[in-house]
Amino acid sequence: MDPAFHIVSGMVIAKALTGDHLVAGALMANLPDLISVPFSYTVKFRLARKDRLTHFLSDFKRFEQSGIAVSPDLMRVYHGAHNLFFWAIVSISLLVALPPPLAITLSLCHLSHLLTDVHSHEKDYASRPLYPLFTSSISGGRNWTSNKLVFFGSWGLLLIIAFFVLL
Ligand SMILES: [Zn+2]
Repeated sequence: MDPAFHIVSGMVIAKALTGDHLVAGALMANLPDLISVPFSYTVKFRLARKDRLTHFLSDFKRFEQSGIAVSPDLMRVYHGAHNLFFWAIVSISLLVALPPPLAITLSLCHLSHLLTDVHSHEKDYASRPLYPLFTSSISGGRNWTSNKLVFFGSWGLLLIIAFFVLL
């Protein structure tokens, strides 16, 4: 899902489990994208045609909506930040550094990113939970950038949950 969705998800989880730590929850829920999105936009900016603004925008939109990898390096960074091994390393680090209730909460915020990306990504961006050991992906998801049902359905459900948790 989009970064804003992950941010709100993290805030909802942190509020529900600790009553506090909304910023930390938002950061941890968005961690995989904080790592991969800057690199992703750099690669897409480099590859998009720059002779006309309309070409640039249409290339960028195609890169965003197709679900097709534009570069192998980007896929390594993207899936390197979106897998259960990276989540486990981060979670162990949190447990070493923080009191267990907070560490577990932030770990769950991070895990929420991986779970909500399963139904909202497809093709080359489909979730690969055991990357890099196994590169097989979970099929059945639809890209949130092009599928309105996935985008609005996910946001609708999250906002209903957020209404009861945050207010
Ligand atoms: Zn992501």
